[in-house]
Amino acid sequence: MPIYKILLLSFFLMASLIASIKAQDPVVAHRGAWKENNLPENSIASLTKALSLGCAGSEFDVRMTADSMLVVNHDPTYFGKDIEKVKYEDLKSDRLKNGEMIPTLEDYLLTGARMNHHTRLVIEIKPSEISKERGKWIAGEVIKLVDKLKVASKVDYISFDIDILKELIRVNPKVSTQYLNGELSPKELKEIGVSGLDYHYKVFYKNPKWIQEAKDLKMILNVWTVNNKKDLKFFLKHKFDYITTNEPSLLYAIIKKSEPKPKWKLVWNDEFDKDGLPDDAKWSYDVGGHGWGNNEKQYYLGHSIENSYIKDGRLYIVALNKTHEQLSYTSAKLTTHEKIELQYGKIEVSAKLPRGKGTWPAIWMLPETIKTNEESWPLCGEIDIMEHVGKDPNVVHTSLHSELYNHIKGNQLTFFNTLNDVFDQFHTYGIEWDENGIKFFIDGQLFFETYKGQRGSDTSNEGWPFDKPYFLILNLAIGGNWGGEIDPIIFPCEMIVDYVRVYKSNL
Ligand code: MG
Repeated sequence: MPIYKILLLSFFLMASLIASIKAQDPVVAHRGAWKENNLPENSIASLTKALSLGCAGSEFDVRMTADSMLVVNHDPTYFGKDIEKVKYEDLKSDRLKNGEMIPTLEDYLLTGARMNHHTRLVIEIKPSEISKERGKWIAGEVIKLVDKLKVASKVDYISFDIDILKELIRVNPKVSTQYLNGELSPKELKEIGVSGLDYHYKVFYKNPKWIQEAKDLKMILNVWTVNNKKDLKFFLKHKFDYITTNEPSLLYAIIKKSEPKPKWKLVWNDEFDKDGLPDDAKWSYDVGGHGWGNNEKQYYLGHSIENSYIKDGRLYIVALNKTHEQLSYTSAKLTTHEKIELQYGKIEVSAKLPRGKGTWPAIWMLPETIKTNEESWPLCGEIDIMEHVGKDPNVVHTSLHSELYNHIKGNQLTFFNTLNDVFDQFHTYGIEWDENGIKFFIDGQLFFETYKGQRGSDTSNEGWPFDKPYFLILNLAIGGNWGGEIDPIIFPCEMIVDYVRVYKSNL
């Protein structure tokens, strides 16, 4: 392996190791991470900031309008209007200081769930100002919405009203609940079925034995709202599961976690460090010259050392002006070995692309189900991490195809980006993929993001077939419907791949 790769890889492994022994993370941003950024409390912006800090949780307050819209706001009034007595429509004209409208709970939860496996969404259900009964009914509506949006695994419920928590537990005994009001002992809460206590910090100073009692009962220990260093240190020392604070960055600084933690763990890679044919334990070949549905002009050969080989730490995929079975060109199409299943995580391919009209290199993915004939294209789905056609130099494309949205219909999800030097420089083409969506990166910079349900309510396999095992494909096509006219001077031409790395989420 070349020395630069050893160094880079050591760095990644070290980073993974550091992440695996990461410090405790009890930081719950109270009403989002608003303070240091001068954002409105309980805004989508303050939630997004808490997510980007990687907080263990982000707390927010939920109320309901007269026409039963669940909204996120701390006070019972919003710009002087009594939330419970006006319609949602009547709240929309007044804006938070950053221009946002009062967030609906639905928007808040969807934002909080998207591409987020880490930060808990801590929902405080406020008691109703109208009646106790209405408060309980609101609790039921919140839980319904959480279930409908399929975010139940990411939420915790907190309330000052024990009857609201009792109602949540009645609907679903498995929900995670914490009580805020401070007068009940851990044992009393346990008997009701409440999962934890989230009390004002002075309650714990007054009843220090409750800390150990809660731990003995295996209850969640949370505390609000702790903002000064001395208090933060006290609750860190007592190893609270959560510390709810207006000062998340200060708390991270105290626990020496001001650096963002490494998110990813390397699980599979090929650094191409042994000269010769690609490693058969890692790669297979798609062989043939039938045009691959795109009228392509090359014949893909397997185990052909002139069409695919490793040299000096790099994989070369080479197209040649050489006749094979009536086709004028040979090339190679490598697929990850069948034992390598890719589903979710981060995939990065560092590559240099061929120059010239008629070239069509691609780094892309198809699901296992097309190999096994369980599904055909486009129902099966397709993830194009990078495509480039030589007639359109430096423009790299990224696309997703499905039964409902594909290039035959001309409505595939797609995006392109113009780079400077795809022929002379290696660029890293990658995705971060989870059950919520796919983000596309070039050289670590996000440039396109799409998520399940983005088009209408479409989350079916027909609209979002990206939740099954896929395999990776590296190939260099010649001509075809997109590659177009072939300039005879381009041969030989090659896509050079420096590495392929696959990571899983470390969180
Ligand atoms: Mg609150």
